[in-house]
Amino acid sequence: MTPPPWATALVESVCAVAGVPPPHLTWRRRSSEHSTGIARRDAGIVAVRAGTDPLDQRLTLLHELAHWLSPSTPRRGRRRAVHHGRTFYEIAFELYRRHGIPDADALRLEAARYRSALLHASTLGIPGAVAALQAHRSAIRDRPRRRWAVLVPEHAVQLQRDGRWTVCATCGQRVVGANLARMRRARRLPRHVLMGVVA
Ligand SMILES: [Zn+2]
Ligand SMILES: [Zn+2]
Repeated sequence: MTPPPWATALVESVCAVAGVPPPHLTWRRRSSEHSTGIARRDAGIVAVRAGTDPLDQRLTLLHELAHWLSPSTPRRGRRRAVHHGRTFYEIAFELYRRHGIPDADALRLEAARYRSALLHASTLGIPGAVAALQAHRSAIRDRPRRRWAVLVPEHAVQLQRDGRWTVCATCGQRVVGANLARMRRARRLPRHVLMGVVA
């Protein structure tokens, strides 16, 4: 579909200010709230799949334009080393600010996509970034840890029927397929432990 006029105008304006030729912009819709995009410099294309949130559409297009303006990064192996590094975010946050995305929204939407965004934004001195980074870190710290624990200690497996399944008589784990065949063939009783996730 044809990109909306505001998007075409934004591409022209950003590229004119930066003194680079504009990409060909393609535009599709997606049903989710969030937009996605990709900038392919080799093909001369910026492609946006626009979600329903207008602010997120605008930020997504500016994000891809920031890729368009970013200096090429040398490839390390098969992946680009600093695709969303500090140089990129310096350009991106500058574009957000110049084109009407409030800092708080830019931080919120970028952090939802790339965890490194808050760290780079703090380094770049984006207002609110340090507080957002600290809030994010303490949320991670306070999250209850899930860990693996032994629920039933090691024991010899004694197979028994449980309806259509074969289970271990001690811990109740189902034994199926190749495992079941191997246990039936075994000379000594195989042993087993029941592990589980505890809060
Ligand atoms: Zn990106
Ligand atoms: Zn068992």
